[in-house]
This record gives sequence, structure tokens and C-alpha cells, in this order.
Amino acid sequence: MINQERIKNLLLELVQIDSVSREERDVAERIKAYCEEMGAEVFIDDAGEKVGGNTGNVIARFPGTLPRAEPIMMSAHMDTVVPGRGVKPIVEGDIIRTDGTTILGGDDKSGCAVIIEAVRCLREQDIPHAPIDAVFSICEEVGLLGAKHLDLSKVRARYGLVFDSDDPGFLFTRGPSADHFEIKIYGLESHAGVAPEQGISAIRVAAEAIAAMKLFRVDEETTANIGAIQGGEATNIITNLVTLRGEARSLDDAKLAAQTAHIIKCCEDAARRYEVTVDGVTTKARVESHVTREYHAMDVSDDSRVVKLVKGAAARMGLEVKTLASGGGCDANIFNKRGIECANLGTGMRAIHTVKEWLDVKDMYASAEMTLEIMRLNGESAGQ
Ligand SMILES: [Zn+2]
Repeated sequence: MINQERIKNLLLELVQIDSVSREERDVAERIKAYCEEMGAEVFIDDAGEKVGGNTGNVIARFPGTLPRAEPIMMSAHMDTVVPGRGVKPIVEGDIIRTDGTTILGGDDKSGCAVIIEAVRCLREQDIPHAPIDAVFSICEEVGLLGAKHLDLSKVRARYGLVFDSDDPGFLFTRGPSADHFEIKIYGLESHAGVAPEQGISAIRVAAEAIAAMKLFRVDEETTANIGAIQGGEATNIITNLVTLRGEARSLDDAKLAAQTAHIIKCCEDAARRYEVTVDGVTTKARVESHVTREYHAMDVSDDSRVVKLVKGAAARMGLEVKTLASGGGCDANIFNKRGIECANLGTGMRAIHTVKEWLDVKDMYASAEMTLEIMRLNGESAGQ
């Protein structure tokens, strides 16, 4: 059994330590101290220097009590989105929320709390267990940067779990690939009142391009969005440059490639319709696009060791855990790509990335109980 009061207090403590992305140091130090107190050898890697943050990822290696058992990873991210400074949690019965001016940060401090409490119980209750690599990452919310730069030489495990989703009854085993793109649309500057026919409005070109795009939920596996648009200086100038920033995601890489190509083609098609000739010089609207693969899809089989372990642990508790696909990316996408097979288990966080974020502690208790059972079962199967 986990200690409900203790994990609840730990969550309340962690959410009150500010840790927006790139400023996770205070929470990293606290987590490091807890892990050392519990007997871990703790490393802070150099990911922070690489991404301009004030700390690296915390990697806590707990020795196992079963010499033959393979190490298992448990991971959660320490950073939060904004507005995430000065969180004042409000506890109403089993529900924890904020005063409505900030997010709660249960994403993903509930994951951090679940890991710490589960490891604490394993050790206190002398439950035989494999070595554990607890990875507390930075900068998940700003492009999974901590996971991308995680010093893998410090991580022994090759499979495990990420705790970074809502319902503890769900295990996310599939996630999309994502492209981020920046598209610059160039027109031609001119005086809007004196010589509008001598200009090409990049705003007009962008508007036509966006109007032609298939966006949002493109099909059941694919989404796309233009999330930011910038351009223009003054009302009396025909705008010569507009920048669009957006993303596309799909569980299917071929569909993602097609969607990204479609978005760029809409811009190019719109640009092709615009040209002006001034003093014998012809200018055409044009497009420059820059696409980056933000992360790769994950697809962990129901027959994988980690899924069997979670389902087996749930069954022993009389519960059922469903595997499913997420539309979001998380550190697990990166870990899978980097050779650590892992799925994403829920912790009870709700309405994340909003000031209405809340958490039902009963869900977090259930997640921690299941985690304890997963670690127990992992130890038993390794001991055989
Ligand atoms: Zn998260």
C-alpha cells in the first residue's frame, strides 16, 4: 500500500516550487535530495547547458534487491507550462485545483510524486525489486528537449514507463510524429494609398493560402494547425512579409508527409497568383519554408514487455488498463526512438495547460498503487 497522505503532501509541495521550462533547478534539487535520501545515486546531466536552462535532467539510479533483474525506468517531467509561477493549490476534499490565476502543474508533478512514492514504498516495505532508473526531465513542454538531450550513458534501463497523462486506467502506447514548420511569404512593399498597385500584400497571399488549407482534425490519425501568424508594420504599407508557424501531426508518417506538403503547396499556389511589374522589373510573391521533424511516432506493441507488465499488474489488482493512441507527443516518443521501450501511464492530471487544471487525488493514489504493483510484478518475473 502507498501512503496517501504522504504522496498528497509531496504533490502539494512540488507544485508550489516554480519550475516553468528552463527554470527547473529548485524542483530538481528537491527531487535530487529526496532520491538521495532514499538511497539513489543521483546525476544531473548537461542537458540544461545544451538548451539554455538552469538545470539538467535528474537521473536517480536506485539499486535493485534482485541481482539478476534488468533495470526499469520510471520517468516524469519537472517543467510546467505558463502561467506557472506562484501556484497556490486549493484542496477541496479529493480535488486539488488552483485559484484560477495559474496552472496547477499536476502536469507533470503528479508523475514525479507517483515515482517517488512508489520507490519509497518498495524500499520501506522490503519489496524485492529490480534496479530503477528514475528520470526526471526538463523542458518537456518546449519540444521534449530534456528527453532529446538526456545523457543515456547514465541510464541503465532499456524499458520502462513515462507518467504523463490523465486517466490511470489508460496506457498510451501509440503517439504521433510531428512536424513543425515556419513559412515565410514574401510580397512587395508599397505605399497603400499612393501606389497600392505596385505592391503585393503578403497578408493577402497568406490569407488565400490558409483559406485553402485542410487544417485541424484532418482525419482520425492526423491533425494540423497554424498557431501563429506575424507580419505587417503599419496601415499605410502594403505588407511585404508574413511568417506563419504551425504544426502537423499524424500516427501515420506517410499521412504526415502528405499533410505537411499540402500546407506548403497551398502557400506556393497562392503566391503563384501574385506578381507585379514596376518600372520594367517583375516581382513575384514567393515562399520560403522550413520544416523540422519535432518528434517521431511511437508504437509500442501490446506484446511488449512493458505493456504486459502494466496489464498484468492491473489484473492482479482486479483492474483493467486499456492501451490506446494519443494525439499528443511526450518524452516517451523520444525515449522509444532512443532505444528505451516505454509507454505513458496516467496520473490523474486534468484540464492540463489551462488555469482550470485540477487533479483528483484518488486517481493519483490509484496510479501510485498500480506503479507499486508493476514494480513488484517486474521483480517477481525477473526473479524467476
Ligand atoms: Zn506533461
